[in-house]
Amino acid sequence: MTGTAASQLTVTPGPVELRPTVKALPAQSRAHNRALVLTTLFHVGPQSRADLARSTGLTRVTISELIAQLVEEGMVQDHGMQPEGRIGKPGSPLGLVPGAGNIIAVDLANTTTAHGAVFNLTGQTIAKRSLPMVGATGQVAQRVVYSLLDELLPLCPGRVTGIGVASPGVVGADGVVLTAPNFAWTNLPLGQQIAERYDVPSHVGNDANLAARAEFTFGNAGSQGMMIVTVGRGLGAGILLDGVLLQGPDFAAGEIGHVTAIDDGPKCGCGRRGCLETVLSLPPIETAMAQNDRDQRLAEIGTTAARVLAPIVSAFNLRELVFASSAGPLPKPLLDAIAAAVMQRVLPTNAANLIVRNTNLGREAVLLGASALVLREEVGIG
Ligand SMILES: [Zn+2]
Repeated sequence: MTGTAASQLTVTPGPVELRPTVKALPAQSRAHNRALVLTTLFHVGPQSRADLARSTGLTRVTISELIAQLVEEGMVQDHGMQPEGRIGKPGSPLGLVPGAGNIIAVDLANTTTAHGAVFNLTGQTIAKRSLPMVGATGQVAQRVVYSLLDELLPLCPGRVTGIGVASPGVVGADGVVLTAPNFAWTNLPLGQQIAERYDVPSHVGNDANLAARAEFTFGNAGSQGMMIVTVGRGLGAGILLDGVLLQGPDFAAGEIGHVTAIDDGPKCGCGRRGCLETVLSLPPIETAMAQNDRDQRLAEIGTTAARVLAPIVSAFNLRELVFASSAGPLPKPLLDAIAAAVMQRVLPTNAANLIVRNTNLGREAVLLGASALVLREEVGIG
């Protein structure tokens, strides 16, 4: 908790790369190498110095220097280290210390309840809290976020690495919520205001983009071609392509909830008719589940939604279409219908390797995504 709040904000223009690239400018190389070592330990697990050199492509000397510093910082544990602090056997495994930092994550995607959690660096939950925010807008909604953070901060057992917030709506790369109609937020510098209030590095991202990040960092998703669709009161999507989280020039990539799925369909909150989220979101799913012919109704939802989803699968050559919802996994008849209809609507080349599935991160996909954002921006683990 040192340094000025302003300097703790990270401005990242353009697309965000999820893996450190192999080449970097000399001035950046130390930070880059450090991130590479931490990311490797995070994803692969404990390794010896020799294994780390092999898997990162860095020299043994560089690895030894970096590890010495990371051990001193408490980020990495040398499992061969003697109690009196002597270096252990050269082949002894090194591992990330999960408790070296705590990340506070807040999920505002389900606009009726603000969910929060404290995670350690490997995504294990330390504490959870939630607060109601039904109908809260403007500063009232912001105060709910602060109340939740007030509750969560004292629950961190050690150093606070950062705060991550998942917001619905369109979020700029510098933590400014450009527009979140549900909370009546426009151009709200939420990241900066949280950083200043708590003197902790703070980051804000769109909920669906963060769910995509979570799938990559904590789930099993590859980053070559994946779209995660978040299904709540509304619908959003985050797209990972060739290792990059697509954001677009207006930070609105993946805003597919208001693409027309049915001409002259049901009225949408945006004022138009037949948007995808009037078809595929929790209210119509809950209505279908309550009917006697529920499987048939759910299949119809899936078939209709596929009209919007299939062109995206083709346009980006997606390998994975993943669904996440705060209400739990999508029912099987719905998921099966989406898969069948999408496959029917795309070229066999696009369908051959496509997997349609629910997230394996459960209801916490977005919360974990907010944590993954902090992990990337503050620790360099992507
Ligand atoms: Zn709409």
